[in-house]
Amino acid sequence: MKQPILYAKPSITEREIRYVTDAAQASGQACYAYITRFEELFKKYLDVPYALATSSCTGALHLGMIALGIKPGDEVILADTGWIATASAITYVGAKPVFVDVLPDSWCLDPRAVEKAITPKTKAIIAVHVYSNLCEMDTLLNLGKAHGIPLIEDSAEALGSVYHGKRAGSMGIFGTFSFHGTKTISTGEGGMLVTSDPVLYDKVVTLNNHGRSPHQKKQFWPDIVGHKYKISNVQAAIGCAQMERVEEIVARKREILSLYQKKFSSFLEITMNPEPEGCVNGAWMPTVVFSRESGVTRELLQEAFKEENIDARVFFWPLSSLPMFPSCPENKVAWDIPNRAINLPGYHDMTEEEMDRVASVVVRCLERTKRR
Ligand SMILES: *Cc1c(COP(=O)(O)O)cnc(C)c1O
Repeated sequence: MKQPILYAKPSITEREIRYVTDAAQASGQACYAYITRFEELFKKYLDVPYALATSSCTGALHLGMIALGIKPGDEVILADTGWIATASAITYVGAKPVFVDVLPDSWCLDPRAVEKAITPKTKAIIAVHVYSNLCEMDTLLNLGKAHGIPLIEDSAEALGSVYHGKRAGSMGIFGTFSFHGTKTISTGEGGMLVTSDPVLYDKVVTLNNHGRSPHQKKQFWPDIVGHKYKISNVQAAIGCAQMERVEEIVARKREILSLYQKKFSSFLEITMNPEPEGCVNGAWMPTVVFSRESGVTRELLQEAFKEENIDARVFFWPLSSLPMFPSCPENKVAWDIPNRAINLPGYHDMTEEEMDRVASVVVRCLERTKRR
């Protein structure tokens, strides 16, 4: 059996190990020092005034949904292409996820489909920047403004992506990030909520502290029933080291994506993560989509990668194809692309040789279907 290639792996250096060792030895008030520092680093990078570190992106989304006052009977629009966490957070507050189709080139929310799905019950739109590809933010923000509906950015997959000078996550009413082990920066598990809205920030801080407001004078006094999605100081210590390296980490991710793009440049049957004029793709996960005419399927790809002991990952199943949601096969693009696409390994420490092995599997799949 050949050496395995994983699809994701965090990049951990001496710096992360030094900080985490220090955090493990901290006590008293120093128990929170890395959390504050992590939030500061994040605010600076995103250019936003407020950031709240959490135990996960899912938790951050949940807090944000409550802070917006979303409740049972409300509807929240999101793309049918994405990870379940976004939809889960909608259901946690009793609201209904409304899945709409995506654009064929970015695999992100189709603004026209969003507009059609708006009803008097729509209380938010969630833009997920899937695989670091950017949603059409100008159109979506204008649409939200015209209808008085807040736009949330789930940027879990888009750290490092930039839309016309603004970082993914910094443009909506709030943005969320994930530091799960597979994501661009990792704290093992972890998340962040960012916002420019002081009132919303105040609410999520209170909600994340068991309903204890930072302005409450009485000690140990919750005003509401809250939640507790806190990150630990030890995790935040890893996060600080990762954020101090974020430019380098994102640059390497982008380099990997562009190396793959170069390797596939002569194959018209292949498209990868787009980078439109004025945008920077954070390149979290290099993804290949094969043309319908190529005949390459998910199953063929999975089989070929397995033979090579490479851990490629299937493109997101349409969320509305999952058993707990009403099925929406009319979302044609979201239901079609996963049948002929795959995520390629793209972690920081990958070698050129490993990338060659991955690329050769992709090319072999194309050749196999041509021979048929
Ligand atoms: C990973 C991910 C999440 C969930 O992040 P956790 O930190 O695991 O809760 C949410 N949304 C998207 C788009 C993701 O990719």
